[in-house]
Amino acid sequence: MAWTDVLGQERVKQALRRAIESGRVAHAFLFHGPDGSGKRAMALAFARALQCERGGPEACGRCLACTKVSRMLHPDVHVLLPYPSDADEGEVARRLQRLEEQPYAAVDFMRRPSLEDASRTSNKQAFYSVARLNEEVRRAMSFKPLEGRYKIAILTDADVLRVEAANAFLKLLEEPSPQTVFILTTSRPDRLLPTIVSRCQRLRFDPLPAGLIEAALVEREGVEPATAATLARMADGSYTRALDLLENEDLLADRELVLDYFRYAYARNVTKQAELIERIGKLGRERVKGVLVLMLSWMRDLLLYRTMGDEALLVNVDQRATIEQFCRNVPEADLAAMVEAVEEAIELVGRNVHVGLVLTVLAQALHRAMRGRAGAGLYVPLAAPSEAALPVG
Ligand SMILES: [Zn+2]
Repeated sequence: MAWTDVLGQERVKQALRRAIESGRVAHAFLFHGPDGSGKRAMALAFARALQCERGGPEACGRCLACTKVSRMLHPDVHVLLPYPSDADEGEVARRLQRLEEQPYAAVDFMRRPSLEDASRTSNKQAFYSVARLNEEVRRAMSFKPLEGRYKIAILTDADVLRVEAANAFLKLLEEPSPQTVFILTTSRPDRLLPTIVSRCQRLRFDPLPAGLIEAALVEREGVEPATAATLARMADGSYTRALDLLENEDLLADRELVLDYFRYAYARNVTKQAELIERIGKLGRERVKGVLVLMLSWMRDLLLYRTMGDEALLVNVDQRATIEQFCRNVPEADLAAMVEAVEEAIELVGRNVHVGLVLTVLAQALHRAMRGRAGAGLYVPLAAPSEAALPVG
């Protein structure tokens, strides 16, 4: 990870370079800012510059120390992830390896319970245990550097340090051995103990401008410029989210379909709706089921947002503006009835009922529910009529 691999954040880069240049490197740093803004990438670039055999603020990228830091094999650079109590070592190692390949990848257990399946969710809490801090971190940091000029520990998502663990960590911060550097990263600095925060040099990361994300998608991932522009807008300042969306392009396209479907259903725009339903119908039964499941995830978000007002819980977190707008503009919507109608539609599609017909009656049910006039379930005529005779309007 070179400085140039870190997207934007020039102010932070300059501060870190100056610290190395002046020889006044703090014992602890707190990198705080939104998810996907490059805190981990920056921590890795900083660690490499600190360890480079050539010295100075610019890592050479060629010496053994630079190579080892880049490959996450340096014995004096420890990268730590919080993990749930039942996580096995192999899984943790796989996540660190993923981080080595792509420092912007989502590898944390909370937002990404399964590395392979971006849509999986979990209620399991990832954390740093007291035992782990005392054994792993204290031991690693208490000796002199083995090879490098510094001993470095990068604690990602440091806000999950629970009270006892935070106090154990505080002890490490209070009695720093020389040449040790702790780098804490968090998107929720308000959840850290003030006593920890006050001992760190704080550096704020800004959301990445869409233009920067767009350019990086084109140059680094080889994405088509038009797709890159859409992804960058949806990514909401996070390169990690842009990569997540990129991994699942069908999902991206289908989410747009879902939003249009809701809009036409609400406005009862029969012509546009019929066109859209025809398009969705051509995607095949399995993918149509996927589209309906996406509708459910939207409604779950709408319900959560309306009752809790907490965007941290949203699945479609990049769409919070749209979700907030919906809750404001359609306050009378009967969300429970909407969920019920979609669940019924999923069942009907599974029973091989004509997809166009199901989507048409679903649009009617959603229209009623959004206007606060929910009826009892979907009305599906027993004899499936031809497309022309569908009960629209
Ligand atoms: Zn070097």
